[in-house]
Amino acid sequence: MKTLGLIGGLSWESTADYYRLINTIIQKRLGGLHSAKCLMYSFDFQEIAVLQHEGKWKQAAEAMIDAAVKLETAGADAIVICSNTMHKAADDMEQHLSVPLLHIGDAAAASMKEQGISTAVLLGTAFTMEQNFYKKRLEHSGLTVVTPIAEERNIIHSVIFDELCRGIIKEESKERILSIIKGVNTAGAAGIILGCTELPMLIKPEDLDIPVFDTTQLHSKLAADFLLNNI
Ligand code: GLU
Repeated sequence: MKTLGLIGGLSWESTADYYRLINTIIQKRLGGLHSAKCLMYSFDFQEIAVLQHEGKWKQAAEAMIDAAVKLETAGADAIVICSNTMHKAADDMEQHLSVPLLHIGDAAAASMKEQGISTAVLLGTAFTMEQNFYKKRLEHSGLTVVTPIAEERNIIHSVIFDELCRGIIKEESKERILSIIKGVNTAGAAGIILGCTELPMLIKPEDLDIPVFDTTQLHSKLAADFLLNNI
């Protein structure tokens, strides 16, 4: 089996889900006592979150490159960033790697295409919803994304950083986000992208009556498939 290099701690709450999801897929597919071969570089998220919020993206990208190169040097055959937001550094990281970076946006795009959905509402951190790096990746696959209005984006961002990344699950925050989703002027959107790896801790597919694209799950599956396809 090849070895995955996971970049986690962004936050550790969702990294734990990646670890469980990837191993569950491998165990189910291979049976016996099989589990995923992987290495993990887990950040102290406080350090990265400060860089993000101060707009120090160059330093954040350098930290990501350093982690990815360390994982490749240690024997990783593919790199997985366990966060949507830090895919902002994906292009820079790829330039320093000779192993593939399995992109979370590609996992979301493939699933949308499979379900015949071309437009979706993108929920995530303000960075993911407002900057171009994530939308561009989806648009490159021929997909369109719409985002909530500024005030709603701020609410979602706060729920992610002040609650979910700290392991706090609040029913009232779930209701707020569900009502934001229902109120978004969807402009033909036929699906919801949970474009933050902590959002599936709060929002479940059964909470909504349109398809939900859980990027933690889809990305974990892409990572597990990399292992299974290369046995
Ligand atoms: N895990 C989150 C994401 O998927 C947010 C944390 C971060 O900003 O890296 O975007």
